[in-house]
This record gives sequence, structure tokens and C-alpha cells, in this order.
Amino acid sequence: MTSIVVLGSTNMDLVAYVKRAPARGETVTGRSFRTVPGGKGANQAVAAARAGGEVAMIGAVGSDDFGHRLRDVLEHCSVDTDLLRTVEGPSGTAHIVVDEEGGNAIVVVPGANGSVTSLSRGDEALISGADLLLLQLELPLSVVVDGAAHARGQGVRTVLTPAPAQPLPPELFDLTDLLVPNEHEATALTGRTDPHAAALALLEAVPEVVVTLGAAGCLYAARGAELLTVPAPRVRAVDTTAAGDTFVGALAVALGEGRPAPEALAWAGTAAALSVRREGASTSMPYRTEIEAALG
Ligand code: ATP
Repeated sequence: MTSIVVLGSTNMDLVAYVKRAPARGETVTGRSFRTVPGGKGANQAVAAARAGGEVAMIGAVGSDDFGHRLRDVLEHCSVDTDLLRTVEGPSGTAHIVVDEEGGNAIVVVPGANGSVTSLSRGDEALISGADLLLLQLELPLSVVVDGAAHARGQGVRTVLTPAPAQPLPPELFDLTDLLVPNEHEATALTGRTDPHAAALALLEAVPEVVVTLGAAGCLYAARGAELLTVPAPRVRAVDTTAAGDTFVGALAVALGEGRPAPEALAWAGTAAALSVRREGASTSMPYRTEIEAALG
């Protein structure tokens, strides 16, 4: 079994569905509301566990009710939460307003995630024993760099999702083995709007890049190899929330099993396509048996 450690965020998404988002100073009446457990770290952990990985999560939840629920979701999916701290105060939250056209506006309040500023000995030992370390940018940047540095020192493969988009310190590029931006993040990091050009520019900083392209699939670039386009299976998309996290979690499992990149990318694309056919974030992520059945 692929052993995966996720050093990342847990957030409760608080989603209000409205006809149109309010302007400044305005109040509008929403149509419905729901709470969705998420955070890029937790989503990737659940995706990898459902895809058949042995997964542990390093991060923090708050001492509030959201914290209990976030931990429960991970444990329910067999993610090891022994090193997921509970800190006094609120959990991370994402306040999301979704309008009738599917457009959204989001405020993320890091809450407990902001308290993860250093790694314990236990965290380091856990990372040392993993095949891959999954990282995103919803924890303080300094601990992301520390985690990547520790993994690199132990020969553990690092996979970074550079989201939310922000400039990266050069040492984080140096410590990343595989970078997985979406199109928007690839452009933000390189200034190139063409994903091919962005992928090639990113190859100067990291040895392997996957640019995800939504319904168009993904682009894979590795030093010394031809650029590879992997189309996504055609599906009727109902909810693309966390498609990117599903993709990364499943990709990590496949890579850890030693599958060559084209096969691992097809497997990850199948997992992500299955997730967009269903409503929800972590609840829509497919189990290994479903991915295998879809691949035939
Ligand atoms: P999100 O922010 O919603 O998690 P993202 O912007 O990080 O997603 P995308 O590039 O939109 O990432 O999607 C990630 C992967 O999910 C794609 O590479 C593709 O494999 C799959 N995917 C996304 N949307 C679709 C779709 N409509 N049909 C099939 N596959 C999809």
C-alpha cells in the first residue's frame, strides 16, 4: 500500500446559495445553506485514502464543533489523525457565496490552520516513513517549506499543489519533486497564459509538472521528455468542487504503486471525473473499486 502523509489544512466550508451575491452594504436573502467539510489538505487525504492509500494527516482543527466534525470525516475514511492537533479556538472556515450562475466569492479564515507553524519530532518521523508527502499552501508557508525540506532529506517524494495561488519562495521550488497547479495557478506562477508555455517554464524550477485543465484533462511535463496531454473522460459534470484535490490524492496513490506517469495520470483523471459526476467535496470522491471499474 502506498504510504502518504498530508501536511495541510482542514476547513469547514460554509456555503450560501443566492440568486446574486450582495454588493457592499447590501443584504440579500439566500436560497439555501450547507456546511461541507473540506480544506485542501483534508480533501487530498480523503481522496488518497479512498483510492487505496495508507494516509496520515498532519495539521490542526479547532476546539469547536467544526473541529470534531472535520476530525470525524478523516477518521471515517481511515485517515490516521494521531498527529492532527486540536487547538483552542475556531477551526479553519471558508465562507462561500455561490450565485445562480455558479460563480462564487470566498473568504477563507485560517483559524486552527494558522497555528501549525512547526513540525514536532513525531511529525518528522511520520514523514520519514512515507512514500510521498502531499503539500498545499493553506498552512503557514514556513511549515510547508520545513515539511518539504524534511521529506527531501529522507528521500520522500514531495508533491505540491500551489493553491491558493501566491508567489513561491525559491527554496520551495527546489524542494518540490512534482508540482500540480491548475491553469490559473500555472499562469500566476509564470505569467504565461498558455498552459504548455507555463508547464515548460515551471520545468526550469521543478523536475516534473502536471497542469490540470478541468474537463480538458491535464498536461504532463518532465525534464528530458516530450510534453504529454492526458484527456479527461467525458462526463456530465454536476459539481467540480475538489476535483483538483481528488486528482492529486489519487495520483499520489498511483505513483506510489510505481505506475508510470501516463498510467498514473489516467487513473487520477478517472478518479476526478467520477467525483465531478456527484454533488459534494469529500463525499463525492470515488473508492478504489469504483476507479478500477471505470477503467475497465
Ligand atoms: P477544484 O478547484 O475544483 O478542486 P482545480 O481547478 O484545482 O479544481 P481542475 O483543473 O478544474 O482543478 O480539475 C482537476 C482535474 O479534475 C482535471 O485535470 C480533470 O482530470 C478533472 N476534471 C475537472 N473537471 C472535469 C470535468 N468537467 N470532466 C471530467 N474531468 C474533470
